[in-house]
Amino acid sequence: MSLAPLIRRMIAADGPLPLDKYMSLCLGHPEHGYYMKGEPVGARGAFTTAPEVSQMFGELIGAWCHAMWSGTGAPSKFYWVELGPGRGTLFADMLRIAQLDPAFQNAAHAVLVETSPKLQQAQRSRLADSRIPIRWVESVDELSADAPVIVVANEFFDALPVRQAIKGARGWHERVIGEIDGALALGAAPALLNEALIQEPLRDAPQGSVVEFAPARDAATTALARRISTQGGAALIVDYGYEGPKPGETFQAMRAHAFANPLDNPGDADLTAYVDFAALKRAATGLPVFGPIGQGEFLSRLGLHERAARLKAKAQPAQAAEIEAAAHRLTHPDAMGDLFKALAICQENAGPPPGFPT
Ligand code: SAH
Repeated sequence: MSLAPLIRRMIAADGPLPLDKYMSLCLGHPEHGYYMKGEPVGARGAFTTAPEVSQMFGELIGAWCHAMWSGTGAPSKFYWVELGPGRGTLFADMLRIAQLDPAFQNAAHAVLVETSPKLQQAQRSRLADSRIPIRWVESVDELSADAPVIVVANEFFDALPVRQAIKGARGWHERVIGEIDGALALGAAPALLNEALIQEPLRDAPQGSVVEFAPARDAATTALARRISTQGGAALIVDYGYEGPKPGETFQAMRAHAFANPLDNPGDADLTAYVDFAALKRAATGLPVFGPIGQGEFLSRLGLHERAARLKAKAQPAQAAEIEAAAHRLTHPDAMGDLFKALAICQENAGPPPGFPT
């Protein structure tokens, strides 16, 4: 079953859809949305994420969380939050690290923010033997306010919807998806877009330029930052993207580990766009922000290569080669090392976040 007929009907009734509406429907429609249907991540899904590449990723991020907990005064209760946990692999790897410090483990109350009931189910079974209580919520707004938060988000922000604008002769227009000759097609809304939505340095871009902006991502970041400033704690955001302002379009579809046309097979592909880390930094108003730095540099500073060497020393040759390949994939500029970036948002007066140059 596909979303296409439903989207065509919506367009016929109400006119073309802005990209963010299309993206939300394709990913989050309760019945036909890509994340609602099942298994986006891993060998059977559309893409492989860092925690699925190697357990080292989640272990190092777990150690990062522990350091931030210590650096914020080792509170006796905190919410350990993951946004968009996918199959639960990252959290499972972090939990192994938590076991090394009973005080940390006792203080932690896990909250997984996940909209997809199927993925929630996958996470429940993956994390069934957790020694930390876990609660599931659908939105950051549902977090409790009575303790600090330590938040991890890997490849979450890229899945939050983006909008696009294209520069015409008279100014900027929102890009929309309509129907031409029975097929979905990209076009521009006739009305001019409020220019305040376009970052100032990009406003004078030449005709034909396309820019992306993502109010949903900004709002999620601001909501997190508010919590961190009132409740205490820190957040680590890892994703693929760039530090804007930068013109260009990155809205893309992945299907069975290959790029696809985002207008084909709505609901059957993962739709994402690169994260503009500069926009997230701006949205984290008033709090100390570190990075973005490349995932390769971040993980190397956290000790990934030393950890790989220790694991390799105990491994059979075939396994050792796998560990080496995973380390390369996570850190090398020709793989995930540069395109993927890490950003930390911290409460005032926290210890410096590990992995970031200070
Ligand atoms: N972090 C995981 C999975 C990334 S896929 C990993 O690294 O493997 C994106 C995840 O975010 C999925 O679990 C998806 O269901 C979830 N998600 C997407 N949009 C969301 C939203 N608006 N609110 C909560 N979760 C969302």
